[in-house]
Amino acid sequence: MPVRVLITDPLDEAGRRALERAGVEVDYRPDISPEELKAVIGQYDALIVRGRTKLWRDVLEAGARRLRAICRAGVGLDNIDLGAAEELGIKVFNTPEASTEAVAELTVALMLSLARAIPRADKAMKEGRWIKRELMGWELAGKTLGIIGFGRIGQRVAEICSAFRMHILAYRRTRPPGLEEVLRRTGARMAPLEELIRSSDIITIHVPLTPQTRHMIGEREIAMMRDGVIIINTSRGGVIDEEALLKALKNGKIAAAALDVFEEEPPKGVSLELARLPNVIATPHIGGQTREAQKKASEMAAEKLIEFFRSRGLL
Ligand code: NAD
Repeated sequence: MPVRVLITDPLDEAGRRALERAGVEVDYRPDISPEELKAVIGQYDALIVRGRTKLWRDVLEAGARRLRAICRAGVGLDNIDLGAAEELGIKVFNTPEASTEAVAELTVALMLSLARAIPRADKAMKEGRWIKRELMGWELAGKTLGIIGFGRIGQRVAEICSAFRMHILAYRRTRPPGLEEVLRRTGARMAPLEELIRSSDIITIHVPLTPQTRHMIGEREIAMMRDGVIIINTSRGGVIDEEALLKALKNGKIAAAALDVFEEEPPKGVSLELARLPNVIATPHIGGQTREAQKKASEMAAEKLIEFFRSRGLL
């Protein structure tokens, strides 16, 4: 019986071609509905998903008879019930390295857009309005940047921002080998979360969404921040308590924010209210949305599945 893989989200064709060359039968259904997925999942050995497809317990149980592996092309695994997958003996992979550069570059692009009000300037120009006097910006050089979550993306942001001559504070729970070298190269200093929050002019968030990080930035943390602080979130919406963020952006405690991610996507309710604020730059979860990152994620997902099937003698 041929190995069958179902791709349930939009995926660069490089990975599909690689799977087919390895002898895998690939079905590409990037718009499949949850009901359709539940009906057909049992016919496949593996799935490749991105963030759109939600693989909760009921869907995984429907596929348990045959499904052996899931590969998330991308980083976050918060759309997959990992506990249920483990119980059902389904191996879960992701391709976390693929989007590091893309997300780090977007983070810096948002920082510069906030500093120079580029979206507002462009909008006014298109409307035929010359608002030069209203557009007094600020410089990144000399500012203190607090990076919460100092993994792949956080470290790459530090590398880029060190060239802007920013003072960098970083927070993470662990101190793995190799970290000293990154700190030396970027001039970043590790700091406890509270010190980082109190001392930063700009705070950028790069932790995964987990039960420990959900709402890790809430009313208490915002109260500790400098007045007029700038927040950038390209990680996951749920890491910030959006109600608290909305309140602080309205009363000026937080001067401005750039948000690529929301608790609800596409945004509704509080998330939409946030996106609409004049002191917020909002983007529709485009952190990993570059040609290079998508191609890398697709190729890496295919490689991981091919290796998995070969190691079990299925290919
Ligand atoms: P990573 O695993 O390399 O880094 C995460 C860092 O967070 C690590 O340093 C880890 O120690 C730290 N961390 C985890 N839990 C923590 C906690 N409770 N307190 C403090 N630190 C904690 O991941 P990465 O590749 O840098 O990606 C970070 C996140 O970015 C992803 O999990 C994903 O949610 C998000 N992301 C977003 C997009 C997008 O399109 N906007 C794309 C890719 C990734």
